[in-house]
Amino acid sequence: MNPFPIILSSPSGGGKTTIARMLVDRRPDVGYSVSCTTRSPRPGEVQGRDYHFLSPEDFGGRVERGEFAEHAHVHGNRYGTLREEVDRVFASGRHVIMDIDVQGARQFMASYPESVLVFLLPPSADVLVGRLTGRKTEDRATTLKRLQGARDELAEVGQYQYVVVNDDLETAYRQVASIVEAEAVRHARLPRTAERVRHIVGALNDLIQQFPGN
Ligand code: ADP
Ligand code: 5GP
Repeated sequence: MNPFPIILSSPSGGGKTTIARMLVDRRPDVGYSVSCTTRSPRPGEVQGRDYHFLSPEDFGGRVERGEFAEHAHVHGNRYGTLREEVDRVFASGRHVIMDIDVQGARQFMASYPESVLVFLLPPSADVLVGRLTGRKTEDRATTLKRLQGARDELAEVGQYQYVVVNDDLETAYRQVASIVEAEAVRHARLPRTAERVRHIVGALNDLIQQFPGN
């Protein structure tokens, strides 16, 4: 297997966390890259599992030391992906699923051009607002900031290779899982294809020579 990064982006409330979790839970070939952030944990979020929650000083120090593969300011906080975190998942032989914003996706592609970019689109504005407010994890001002940011995120859909409408969750999950399946057999990602073909052709030549009637 030749693991690759899969980037999921969407407006806040688009379903990135939900679908990334489903991939990690259901597919042993996918691992999650735990991002760093300066925002506070939400109830139920666990340090090191959902995010590495860092102080602004710690985050800034890591930026200066070049520890991030990408980092960005999103909705008034800093977020970033540690190179070490990506390497950790690759070292376990799994594809790396990342839930990152559109600026981060662009930066990350510069270092990892083999990444697969998937944008999750809400079925409608009403549904997006309903899901974001229904999650009840942000106050009104924060929710408003995220909805305003959603317009900028949506404007960047053109840089993504795949667009999945997250209407029915199982359908959206299946489509993302199918993208992973298809990308895993993309010719450019397959190691030693020419060598394998040479081997088969060599064996085939022998079989043809011994074939009755030849
Ligand atoms: P994001 O990580 O993109 O901000 P979440 O994964 O937290 O979004 O999803 C926002 C909310 O919408 C969550 O409460 C989640 O359970 C819900 N949700 C996500 N996808 C669907 C879906 N297809 N149908 C119904 N609810 C969904
Ligand atoms: P949330 O605070 O809802 O968990 O995430 C807010 C936004 O930050 C989402 O758009 C999410 O994709 C983005 N985000 C999360 N982790 C990262 C990261 O490591 N890098 C970047 N650039 N954005 C991230």
